[in-house]
Amino acid sequence: MIEVVKIPKKSKKQLDRASEIYAELVKHYPNAYCELNHNNPFELLIATILSAQCTDVRVNKVTPALFKAYPTPYEMAEAPLEELEELVRTTGFFRNKAKSLKESSQTLVDEFDGEVPKTMEELLTLRGAARKTANVVLGNAFGINEGVVVDTHVRRISNRLGLTKEENNTDKIERDLMALFPRESWTDLSHLMIHHGRNACKARLSSPPEHPICIKYGKNCECWKMRGLGSEK
Ligand code: SF4
Repeated sequence: MIEVVKIPKKSKKQLDRASEIYAELVKHYPNAYCELNHNNPFELLIATILSAQCTDVRVNKVTPALFKAYPTPYEMAEAPLEELEELVRTTGFFRNKAKSLKESSQTLVDEFDGEVPKTMEELLTLRGAARKTANVVLGNAFGINEGVVVDTHVRRISNRLGLTKEENNTDKIERDLMALFPRESWTDLSHLMIHHGRNACKARLSSPPEHPICIKYGKNCECWKMRGLGSEK
């Protein structure tokens, strides 16, 4: 049985601040989108499984040959494991990922008539698909805002900008974000934060941030102290 997601309550001040940050993100990254290349829900599902612990750029290099060889779940379910391993080797954890590709394809064939399902509960039955994968597929292939994708960028920025106090538990971070931002923005929110993570709020910062979002909202962020200004309470 699927767990009911309990969304915490946030104060008006927190909601207003989140709304301002969202507007700024949209202003600065108007073209934020899903960077995993795909032509259909199946390709997005497979690309997302491959993107665990790997960059989207690397995944996009691997998927053209993979989808040429095995374009549908029917073909991928029948693929020799060693060939799948070879095709996805450079994405890391390739043995495990190859197994996930084959087994999830088999489940699509056996349980869903070869179609990618449109519910969180069903997507979570696929090997290699956790909540993050399911959110990517639901949001970007079907336009369903079921949750927020919490990847490494979203986790880092949510913490640094004080949108959550939870540092590691991605389910709790997701719930805080779901509480702070309106449902219709959930899919775009993760694209926006990922773009900010790549452009400004990098994991390692070697100089004080100059991005307008950081200047305006990052005053409690650790890296603000690099300016010698201290944190603002
Ligand atoms: S001020 Fe620093 S930590 Fe805060 S969002 Fe900007 S780059 Fe990230």
